[in-house]
Amino acid sequence: MRNKIIYFIRSKLLPDSLFLINGKRESKSLYLTFDDGPVQGVTEELLELLAQHKVKATFFIIGSRISKSSDLLKKIHQQKHTIANHSYSHPNFTKLSSETMLEQIITTNELIRATTQQCCRLFRAPQGRWSIRLLFKLFRLKMTAVHWSRDSMDFLKEQPEKIVKRFIDEPVKNGDIILFHDDNSRCIEALKTLIPHWHSQGFSLNALENK
Ligand SMILES: [Zn+2]
Repeated sequence: MRNKIIYFIRSKLLPDSLFLINGKRESKSLYLTFDDGPVQGVTEELLELLAQHKVKATFFIIGSRISKSSDLLKKIHQQKHTIANHSYSHPNFTKLSSETMLEQIITTNELIRATTQQCCRLFRAPQGRWSIRLLFKLFRLKMTAVHWSRDSMDFLKEQPEKIVKRFIDEPVKNGDIILFHDDNSRCIEALKTLIPHWHSQGFSLNALENK
């Protein structure tokens, strides 16, 4: 509850360019976001599913995974999804010194740039643990903090049907930024049902703009 209040206050007081929780509520768009990849054997299958449905998404990648998965990162980029920064090693940012915070963000930006020749402007803190200190750092780096307005709760390791049911019981709203994880295939199984379901309701599924 406390977190919800903090996020609400931040989303109302800070501009979207600094702290983004949802897209425009006027347009019938949804934003799928995938954290913690890229992971061999999972992310490829997810990319195939997204291509099959002509859906674009945003991947918040962990920098330390890039050396083993640079081909996968290039593929995400080539398929015109947005690549975003989810730190180098997924630490709890509220416990880091300012120097280490910067190192985590900048090293990952540099790895993304070296692999895809693209600047990265979006950052999501591991587990959504934000602090004013971190937001200030991102502001100085001209980056946007991106949270989410809907959580698939796929981290609970439940059956994919439960993830689907959650979105049927409480439908998505225009502009929702939806959190998934592509470090396991549960989200893929759930999205095989959810993507056609959302399309049939007239939603378009887009990548967040990297600017
Ligand atoms: Zn994460």
